[in-house]
Amino acid sequence: MARCRADNRLIEKVAEIYDWLDVQVRRCSELAGACKSCGNCCDFDGFDHHLFVTPPELMYLTANLGGEKINPPHVWRIKPMPTSRCPYNVGGKCRVYEYRFAGCRIFCCNGDADFQSRLSESALKKLKSVCTEFQIPYRYTDLASALNSFAGV
Ligand code: SF4
Ligand code: SF4
Repeated sequence: MARCRADNRLIEKVAEIYDWLDVQVRRCSELAGACKSCGNCCDFDGFDHHLFVTPPELMYLTANLGGEKINPPHVWRIKPMPTSRCPYNVGGKCRVYEYRFAGCRIFCCNGDADFQSRLSESALKKLKSVCTEFQIPYRYTDLASALNSFAGV
């Protein structure tokens, strides 16, 4: 039970970090850029882009992958990533948009790179603190390795 409570607190902390990030992006919309949600940057080789994620973010995504919340409904756990496209991008749309990673919230192809870099540093500091608080080893792993490892492939 104690572990359950700790996990819930961890999920809340990640949600707070994402809320904070979304506020920063909205406040500085000129620097943040204007995403047209085309989904092209979710194909990392095709877009020559990289996305790194941390354990608390994967735990947050796992905790929120309720069957009723995403489409198709049978998807309820971390998907492996066999290609360079994020497996949650289906038909060009993010199927886990509400729960997407910090890097997905920060990156915009027409945004200011320095702004994104500063925001990323601040977000990682917060995510690192979550790891320290909940005694989780901090890792900053490329998306494919992280998803494949969480999915057990
Ligand atoms: S950041 Fe750019 S490439 Fe990525 S989804 Fe938005 S508009 Fe498309
Ligand atoms: S989680 Fe969503 S926004 Fe992020 S890379 Fe995957 S499909 Fe794209």
